[in-house]
This record gives sequence, C-alpha cells and structure tokens, in this order.
Amino acid sequence: MANVVVVGAQWGDEGKGKIVDWLSERADVIARFQGGHNAGHTLVIGNQVFKLSLLPSGIVRKGKMAVIGNGVVLDPWALFSEIDKLSAQGVEISPENLMIAENTPLILPLHQDLDKLREEAAGASKIGTTGRGIGPAYEDKVGRRSIRVADLGDEETLDSRLDRLLAHHDALRQGLDAAPIDRAELRAKLLEIAPKLLQYAQPVWKVMNDYRRAGKRILFEGAQGSLLDIDFGTYPYVTSSTTMSGMAASGTGLGPSAIGFVLGIVKAYTTRVGEGPFPTELDDADGQRLGERGHEFGTVTGRKRRCGWFDAVLVRQTCAISGVDGIALTKLDVLDGFQRLKICTGYQVDGQHYDHLPTAASLQARAKPVYEEMAGWQESTQGARSWADLPANAIKYVRRIEELIQCPVALLSTSPERDDTILVTDPFAD
Ligand code: IMP
Repeated sequence: MANVVVVGAQWGDEGKGKIVDWLSERADVIARFQGGHNAGHTLVIGNQVFKLSLLPSGIVRKGKMAVIGNGVVLDPWALFSEIDKLSAQGVEISPENLMIAENTPLILPLHQDLDKLREEAAGASKIGTTGRGIGPAYEDKVGRRSIRVADLGDEETLDSRLDRLLAHHDALRQGLDAAPIDRAELRAKLLEIAPKLLQYAQPVWKVMNDYRRAGKRILFEGAQGSLLDIDFGTYPYVTSSTTMSGMAASGTGLGPSAIGFVLGIVKAYTTRVGEGPFPTELDDADGQRLGERGHEFGTVTGRKRRCGWFDAVLVRQTCAISGVDGIALTKLDVLDGFQRLKICTGYQVDGQHYDHLPTAASLQARAKPVYEEMAGWQESTQGARSWADLPANAIKYVRRIEELIQCPVALLSTSPERDDTILVTDPFAD
C-alpha cells in the first residue's frame, strides 16, 4: 500500500493545504512530522474556510486519524486555541481522531520571547521568523534540555527538566537584558495544561507501525518548504527543521521504506516570506500583479509575500533532494493575462554559469537569473478540470516546467476549490 509524503518544493506557501485536504479524503491517517504553528494552511471546503497551523489538515474530515509526530515542536496553548476555533466551526476533535507523540518537544512562552528578542537584537540581519519560538525550541531539543509531552506526567521529572532549561534560558536572557523566567508561574501553567494534553499522548511510533502493518493509507503532511530546510535551504534564512521528505519517517517513528510516493507542491511562480536570497524576485509591476492576483499575504503573520518568476533551478534542486516522484502544480490561474512569462533556467555569478544554487551566501546574493521567455495566455484557466479546458500556451508552460525540473506533474490545481484539480497520477495508486 502506497503512503504519500507531501512537501513544499519552494519557500513554503505553495498551496499545500488544498492538496493535502484533497489527498486526505483518500487517506486513513494524516501525520505532521516537522515544524510547528509557524505553518499556515487554509482549507476551503464548500462555503467553509478553515485555517490550520499546527493540526494536520485531515482533522476537518470525519473518520480520519490526525497525528502530530515527534519531529514537530508543539506549543500546547496554541494547540488548544486552534482546537477551540475549529470546534466552534463544528469540527469534533478528541483522542478518537487526534494523537500526539509522547516524545514531542514543547514550545514554551520563553521560546517565543527568545525568538522575538533575538530578532529585535539582530536589526537588519534578522531572519524574519514567524516569532512562534520555533528556532529556540529546536535548539533546546538538540541541546537535550527540552520539556517533552511525556514529562508533564510526572512532577519530579518536570522539576528537573525545568532546572536544566531555566539555567540555560536565564543566562541567555541576562545577555539580552530580559528578566529571568518566573519558574513558579511556568510550572503552574504546565501543570494546568498537562491533563488536557496528556489525554492525546501516545507512543506514536508504535501506533504508526501498527497502521502500516494493517495496510492503512498514511499521508505525511510537510510544512514550510524545501528552501527553508535547515540543511539545504538558503541558510541562515531558513526554519529550524528538516523540511525534506526524509523527515517524514524519523519525525513519526517509521523506517524510510514507509515513505512511498513523494509529492512536491510547486506554485506556478515563486514567493517567499521573510528575509534571504531570492534570485527571481520582482520589484516591478509584474511582481505587484502576482502578489495581488495570488493574494500573497502570509496566513500566520499577515506579512506581504515577496513574488517572482518561476525558478526551475531551485525546484529541480529540491525535487532531487526530496526524491519527488511527481509535483502538484498550483495557482496556474494567477498567470492568466500575462503577455510574456519568464522561467529561470540557470544563474550567472561573476560571469560563471550555475545550473544549481551555489551554497556560499556571497554567491547566492550575487546570483543573476538566466531567463527563458514564453508567450502567456489571455484566457482564464481558473477552475479548469481537464487538460482540454486549458489554453495551448498554458499547457506549453506546464510541459516546459516538467522538462526543466525533471519531474512530471501528478496534479494541477486551478483554484482554491478542492474539485478544481486535474489529476494525472493518483499518488495513492499502488
Ligand atoms: P521560523 O520558522 O518562524 O523560525 O521562520 C524562519 C523562516 O521561515 C522565516 O523566513 C519565515 O518567514 C519562514 N517560514 C516559517 N514558516 C513558514 C511557512 O509556513 N510558510 C512560509 N514561510 C515560513
């Protein structure tokens, strides 16, 4: 039985929410394996709009199991606020349809403090984080001083974890001119939320292996995008987790052979939120038009996204690293009405040609895109449900993208509506 991993193949915001929802109808289990509530997925189902940050998208469908794996960093207060909002929209959430790995590290208010303090102190060299405490929480995980979900079940363990954690954070805070942590207050807050959170806690690795043996269909829902990957992204302007497909296994407790089909989500142009290199960024009317037509504002922070032409070099690179089997191409309709379209096929840096994004930050900053131009189309592609509904130039654009990124289109999405999708290959097919 094929499982499917969905990853963003650019800088995030590729339209994963809709595709994951579309696939989750075919899945039994939907699991998040990295990131936290820095993610923002918008689902449009009929006339209802759901905004998700931390919960797996499948939570809005009845009869599905939603899983938060150990690779995630979890803010328990953000979790319950999201659960409350969804409950008010009529979504039922209980341990019957949500489980959280016991070994998931927590994001605490002190992580958000540190994220913001550091960004403020960095001034012009800030990363442009979402301010959710993601980086500091992952630092503590790797630094072996996190408080994890299971630690909330025993006061003695919690106390020793707090000692270790606060010794570190108080020293850091002193350097940033911030007051020490109020230990008693934090401890009380954690003990208050503990019973609510612990009811969802499970040895997820074990349950997932049982699901796998039972032939359940698992959908692994990636967050952010490949170019924000801690190793392969535009470091240091990245998030602090592994956003590539390989993380789906270790972020839930399965072996790599469980991964199955890797679906890369790719937007028909490029956007990025926050700071960092972006070779095909447009500061002109075309960029403005992409932002307006594509409603390019962040779901989590409301920040305006930077927009640019499609960069085939970057997508070829991320598809290779994640072993993408097929892409879901989204937001093609945003390109309707452009006279000419450009696709980046390589870079020039100081007279030298590159067919990949060089790793050195100084080279990345100087990389000038080499473009190929194509004729646009004036017809609307919005809502197209078959290739026959697409203008010839739109098909040419899609085919050229496939050639350049060396990966076929499995799905084509032509509006936020879930049924406005052209299916070429079913990722769940055996
Ligand atoms: P952090 O994940 O909050 O530490 O932010 C690090 C970088 O990743 C910043 O440039 C953010 O804008 C970006 N980022 C984090 N989450 C998302 C996302 O879900 N979509 C797009 N960009 C994101």
